Amino acid sequence: MAKVDVKYTKLFINNEWVDAVSKKTFPTINPVDETVIAKVAEGDKADVDLAVAAAKKAFHRYSEWRTLDASQRGRLMLKLADLMERDVKYLANLETLDNGKPVKQAEGEVLWSASILRYYAGKADKIFGQTIPADGEVVTFTLKEPVGVCGQILPWNYPIPMIVWKIAPVLAAGCTTVVKPAEQTPLTALALAALIKEAGVPAGVINVITGYGPTAGNALTHHPDVDKIAFTGSTEVGRIIMQAASAVNLKRVTLELGGKSPLVVFNDADVEKAAEIAHRAAFANAGQCCVAGTRTYVQSGIYDKFIAKAAEIAKKRSVGNPYEDVQQGPQIDKEQFDKILGFIDAGKKGGAKCIAGGDRQGKVGYFVQPTVFADVTDNMKIAREEIFGPVQSILKFETFEEVVDRANDSNYGLGAGVVTNDITTALAFVKHVRAGSMWVNTYEHVTPQTPFGGFKESGIGRELGDDGISQYLENKTVSFSLPKKPLL
Ligand code: NAD
Repeated sequence: MAKVDVKYTKLFINNEWVDAVSKKTFPTINPVDETVIAKVAEGDKADVDLAVAAAKKAFHRYSEWRTLDASQRGRLMLKLADLMERDVKYLANLETLDNGKPVKQAEGEVLWSASILRYYAGKADKIFGQTIPADGEVVTFTLKEPVGVCGQILPWNYPIPMIVWKIAPVLAAGCTTVVKPAEQTPLTALALAALIKEAGVPAGVINVITGYGPTAGNALTHHPDVDKIAFTGSTEVGRIIMQAASAVNLKRVTLELGGKSPLVVFNDADVEKAAEIAHRAAFANAGQCCVAGTRTYVQSGIYDKFIAKAAEIAKKRSVGNPYEDVQQGPQIDKEQFDKILGFIDAGKKGGAKCIAGGDRQGKVGYFVQPTVFADVTDNMKIAREEIFGPVQSILKFETFEEVVDRANDSNYGLGAGVVTNDITTALAFVKHVRAGSMWVNTYEHVTPQTPFGGFKESGIGRELGDDGISQYLENKTVSFSLPKKPLL
């Protein structure tokens, strides 16, 4: 294992490192060998109160932050992106230690996150309202203003990208925030906080409170001085957050939630290429991906060839020490590991055919074999529920209309993919399937410019792109009367 120096384990409030008021800490666990990496400050309501007070002060109308030229906000973001690139090795190694993802992948995620900061840095001084022509005597214009103090709650699957998706529009729009990372992966958010300070972002603009959801997270979602909550995580917790956000005041809410995304392969596709696309869709990030394409629908004419190829690719997938050159590390924690093995068991007992994997890998750590089920039917648990692990369910279909109905037969609507060489089929699929991101002959293509979010129970609002920053802006409409007669 690589030696990584864990430098930051305290709360980050007002650009200072502080212990939790209670002095409590919680362990963060290495998913490779189940050992404790570090004890991290366990923030709770008292700490959230301090962090929100700092964020509120930083948002005061005459604060350093609010009076900063918008282009200067952009410059701070560019500086932060540079610092992330400077420290890419350290950040990636720390991410791998805490999360278990392959270190090469983690490096790519740090660089990708820096590009998101740069994209939003360019937007900071291009936030304009509209001019609305005079209606009779009244001229109107609109101002786009920062939404205010934000509370941002993160998942553990992409810790660095997720914090950057959240703070980049905050900085560009001129808001302030209190971020609560997932309790499984608190370390890289704290390391990033150190870079935020080094970049010169004023005190109180970004605060990081590590701790648990029902305590620290709950305090943030109920805080009367928080104007907006942005959350990424499970649909189950998303529902709790939406209720909490309306309990004390009426916070703006954006939610990026779960999925059970379909990937549909038509008879005319190249089977080898389609199986590769479907493999990546299902297994990226050890399947711990909200848009994972885990329902693979394959048309009957190529079904047998396809399942043979899918099993072959999955069996070759390298799983092991994430500091080595592998495609897959361990799952995040014992809870997810047990849940995934439970799903695999349900697949076997439910009558699906396990054609690759189907068990844990090794005896230590949370490693799961890349698992493929063929002959899955629509009502099986593994076809309906989000597994969040390396498990692909393959289902057979006959016609276009049938597969569109089946693809849409889910409460989720985050992503969907189609593999075909027929443009009419592709466009009709894109039109009729209800999901926030659609991919044709590719999967999970997400860039700083591409809005990302879900239909149905996969979420509310979008992150990234123009839509992403609009969720951090209020529209102020200003109308004023013009005199009817000449002034002189
Ligand atoms: P989770 O919902 O359990 O936790 C997410 C975050 O919410 C954590 O920081 C947690 O501490 C916090 N939380 C938990 N209970 C809370 C409460 N009562 N009040 C406030 N905060 C609370 O999800 P997870 O296990 O971390 O992540 C896996 C889930 O996230 C999957 O379902 C996945 O699909 C989803 N996800 C979605 C996206 C997306 O962009 N749509 C991205 C990543 C993950």
